Amino acid sequence: MLASNAMGHRAFVLLAFGVCAPALACTTSPPPSVASSSPPAAETTITEPPAAGTCTTAQALEITLACNAGLVVRSGETSVLVDVIYGESFPGFTINSPQQREAIDQGAAPFDDVDVVLATHHHADHFDAEMVGAYLMRYPAVHFVSTQAAVDLVLATLPVDHGADGRLHGYGFEQGSASVEHLELGAVGIDIVELRHVGDQPTPNVGFVVELGGQRVLHVGDTLVAGEAFPIAALGRIDVALMPYWYLLDETSATFLGTVLDPPHLVPMHLPAIPEDEAGQAEYRELRQSIEDQFAATRWLDQPNQSESVCPS
Ligand SMILES: [Zn+2]
Ligand SMILES: [Zn+2]
Repeated sequence: MLASNAMGHRAFVLLAFGVCAPALACTTSPPPSVASSSPPAAETTITEPPAAGTCTTAQALEITLACNAGLVVRSGETSVLVDVIYGESFPGFTINSPQQREAIDQGAAPFDDVDVVLATHHHADHFDAEMVGAYLMRYPAVHFVSTQAAVDLVLATLPVDHGADGRLHGYGFEQGSASVEHLELGAVGIDIVELRHVGDQPTPNVGFVVELGGQRVLHVGDTLVAGEAFPIAALGRIDVALMPYWYLLDETSATFLGTVLDPPHLVPMHLPAIPEDEAGQAEYRELRQSIEDQFAATRWLDQPNQSESVCPS
């Protein structure tokens, strides 16, 4: 259920972190994103082609952290929420602040223009059935995609005449099937694959590849699956990989990520809350440095509503 289930692979000092103070941890003002930088002055008449590795705001994919494993993937006026709508945290991890929850409910930036809500699994630090159900009733064009277990939990919260069957997409896989399902929802393409949850409990967990604006973003939820059990051939190209930090610390998984998946952009997620004490902060910096040293493609998001713009390769 928790990241700590995976920690047997490395006695990582972050486990000693205290309980995060969610209101503090998740209300930091977001830094300006690349995508929001000012346009050229009005008198500019010659449009220079973007330099290598850069692109216009319209071409860029924007990846925004909510908290924990919750990320928003946006291209133009289409957004996808992944593991954003949840209501509980666990010791050492972060949770959406009341302001973020309000913005999610109201469809305010950066949680606006949402077409699809995804949840990798039904654990409370990724998903809340009542909150998702209420969201779907409030926004009658939004689709929800998750495990069948999570969809069943949402259905149990809805009124009998909810009329949302066509917007609920639940997937149940044989464990280890490595098969891939595909959905097209408007401008959003989604590949769905079973990726076994970390730990001993048989929790259904799916990974998603979201195709939006011509780029493909992988979010794996709470997994450590690597090697043959990871159907990379069926999933195809990955432009941005959103991976739980323990995946990056496990030798086998990290090697698979670096040599087989080899994404041009990597965003570590499900990060521990940044401790308030100096010793804990030093450990956090050490964690960050060790990941950045190993993966040159790392884009680091650890502040709520912080975002990164990713240009097409
Ligand atoms: Zn979990
Ligand atoms: Zn989790």
